[in-house]
Amino acid sequence: MKNVDQLDLKNKKALVRVDFNVPVNEQFEVTDNTRIKAAKPTIDAVLKKGGSVVLMSHRGRPKGKEEKYSLKYIVPEIEKVLGKPVKFVPDSIGSEVEKAVKDLKPGEILLLENLRFYPEETKGDETFAKELAKNGDYYINDAFGTAHRAHASTAIVARYFDKDHKAVGKLMEQEVKSIQKALDYGEHPITAIIGGAKVSSKIGVIENLLNKVDNLIIVGGMAYTFLKALGNNIGDSIVEDDKIEVAKKIMEEAKKKGVNLILPVDFVIADSFSNDAHTKIVKANEIPQGWQGLDIGPETINKIREIIKNSKTIIWNGPAGVFEFDKFANGTEKIGEAIGEATQNGAYSLVGGGDSVAAVQKLGLEDKISYISTGGGVLLDMLAGKELPGLKALQS
Ligand code: AMP
Repeated sequence: MKNVDQLDLKNKKALVRVDFNVPVNEQFEVTDNTRIKAAKPTIDAVLKKGGSVVLMSHRGRPKGKEEKYSLKYIVPEIEKVLGKPVKFVPDSIGSEVEKAVKDLKPGEILLLENLRFYPEETKGDETFAKELAKNGDYYINDAFGTAHRAHASTAIVARYFDKDHKAVGKLMEQEVKSIQKALDYGEHPITAIIGGAKVSSKIGVIENLLNKVDNLIIVGGMAYTFLKALGNNIGDSIVEDDKIEVAKKIMEEAKKKGVNLILPVDFVIADSFSNDAHTKIVKANEIPQGWQGLDIGPETINKIREIIKNSKTIIWNGPAGVFEFDKFANGTEKIGEAIGEATQNGAYSLVGGGDSVAAVQKLGLEDKISYISTGGGVLLDMLAGKELPGLKALQS
């Protein structure tokens, strides 16, 4: 698989799939330009090599052509981030697009309209992909956020370029390498901390991690399903009764594989799901009816901190509690701090998933973590050991 630096782009047009799925306010102003900034290195590289750039992206989940999802609104923000003018064409295929692409000169940037205005995009339609392929001499995929989807623009389009005329973008390359560094080439002991609301959304991740890690720490809402499977009283805590058998199997598997699976030993419990709730700290098997666990307790935090301190590689996805409420953010924050300290002492740390990243940002620990992934679903798929269609399509 080639990368951008290996392409001869002089006087050529690069069709670049980016992830500009950015949030906007009521005035259609971009409120978070992280994803635009993340695509800049690839765009700059193409321009520097004497090429021109045809950008394509989706934004939101429009049902057909819904004006409010038009990419025209984000042109000013892209121009601001890139420091260059950006042309816009109100379609992604067809004669108007072909003309705009044909007129594009080296050094110029053209943005196509939201790909999802065509339902063919998410269906991975071949005819639509073939039309998209007309928009460039080369195809570059830098949309890491959608690399786990076999959509027309993320995977199918690559069929219309031979392997010397397609490449992985710089963001995607960096993401994949940084995740593999922890997951596949991490120095032992490797510790994964997996949290979040439900075990059902992360079964594949946990199963795959059992083949990779020395310590698997389960926190957040999903821990109660494991604790219930062990016969503990979990009161009114969040639980997935239909996943109790899965939890039992995961615990057996961990034992067989010699993985140290750690569950919380105490909790901060609350008498309602609210920041104003009354709270108590109790042992993990002593949550009374009418109360629910909303954060891990101090003993658990100390245990986790000790394990993190002794790890050489740390992977973290998912909060330890309902961190949106300040009262229950402590566990999540302490995990972030411990990972920051371990990283300062030489460990390699990978943090991903919106909530864990938000916690790291809130604590100002961005510089103390080795790599913060921008991926959501795609990161979970990688952690689950799944092949990414967006990457595979670039390989042959
Ligand atoms: P996920 O999207 O699966 O990573 O889950 C994130 C959500 O899990 C956050 O919104 C948290 O508030 C929620 N969560 C974490 N711990 C708990 C808990 N003990 N009870 C209920 N929800 C939780």
